[in-house]
Amino acid sequence: MSSSRIIRLPPLPSIRDLIKLYKLRAMKELSQNFLMDPRLVSRIVRSAGSLQDCEVCEVGPGPGNITRSIIQNMPSRVLVIEKDKRFTPSLELLAESSPMPLELIFGDVMNFNFEQIFNEDYKMEWEDKCPKIHLIGNLPFNVSTPLIIQWLKAISEKKSAWRYGRVRMTLTFQKEVAERMVAPIMSQERSRLSIMCQNWCRVEHKFNIQGRAFIPKPDVDVGVVRLTPLKKPTISLPFGIVEKVVRSVFNYRQKHCIRGIETLFPKPVREKLASELLLAAAIEPTTRPFQLTVTEFGRICEEYMSICKDTPNYMKYNYRHPSSNYLDNWPEVEINNSSSYE
Ligand code: SAM
Repeated sequence: MSSSRIIRLPPLPSIRDLIKLYKLRAMKELSQNFLMDPRLVSRIVRSAGSLQDCEVCEVGPGPGNITRSIIQNMPSRVLVIEKDKRFTPSLELLAESSPMPLELIFGDVMNFNFEQIFNEDYKMEWEDKCPKIHLIGNLPFNVSTPLIIQWLKAISEKKSAWRYGRVRMTLTFQKEVAERMVAPIMSQERSRLSIMCQNWCRVEHKFNIQGRAFIPKPDVDVGVVRLTPLKKPTISLPFGIVEKVVRSVFNYRQKHCIRGIETLFPKPVREKLASELLLAAAIEPTTRPFQLTVTEFGRICEEYMSICKDTPNYMKYNYRHPSSNYLDNWPEVEINNSSSYE
């Protein structure tokens, strides 16, 4: 639920005027698109839930339109991480009129470690309720998708911002990406991203914004997504294992799932081990990737781990670069003697 109390900021120039005043032309190379409609801005912020007395970190504030709305929702502290220093004057102006601390950090969010930035008093146990800490951002699409993968890994390891507990995120994505993130089993949009997001988070596709609401107008529409880390992921295995298995299976999206699973193993043992794995996981080899539940992916991962326990080198096997590891000269030997591959 959104906060019912909103504060008014002292009179400030409009974002449109600030953009003109400081000549903040959107830079194509940074994929900058500014959202000018205050109702849509406040709808993004409301999607995060109540921000009252929370610490909020906004990524990619630009001239500060979303930042203004965040401040109006009365958090206890706001941090912004922005790559483009041209926004310094407009963000500083906002910091001066903000009734709560607004701290500006200039840098690349992709290399930013959130480990120490929030107040230790806000820390919660993972199993407890979510901490009063939020991450919010309208980032360029070329940043938001790799960023969410990086953050899912941090969530799986309870590191970076997730050292403070189950920190919630409200972010924008290309509409199609947002649809993939929430896609249920059997849907056309079901993909690697659906499994990865849904394994570690509750994912809510809140609403869409038409491209024409932005200046300059991007070629695509935008989806606003809220992610809440789960107390317990469906697949409690290391991120890298889940990522490898899910990627291998979805590389053959239109094929039977056995085809992708085969690529987890070197050629001589491929068919045998893939069949054994699916048998042990109680999954029909003709199931298509988009028909598999997260739980079924979990069983595939477990069986893959169990095979790799017997032959650890399989873990290093990379189908795309088979010569980049120990399998340089993969011997053509009897497939039922797999222990000799170690
Ligand atoms: N928040 C503003 C809005 O909604 O109108 C600006 C959004 S614009 C799509 C994305 C913003 O993210 C820009 O200000 C851009 O400079 C910033 N940005 C792009 N890449 C970034 C990165 N790697 N780290 C931090 N900020 C980044």
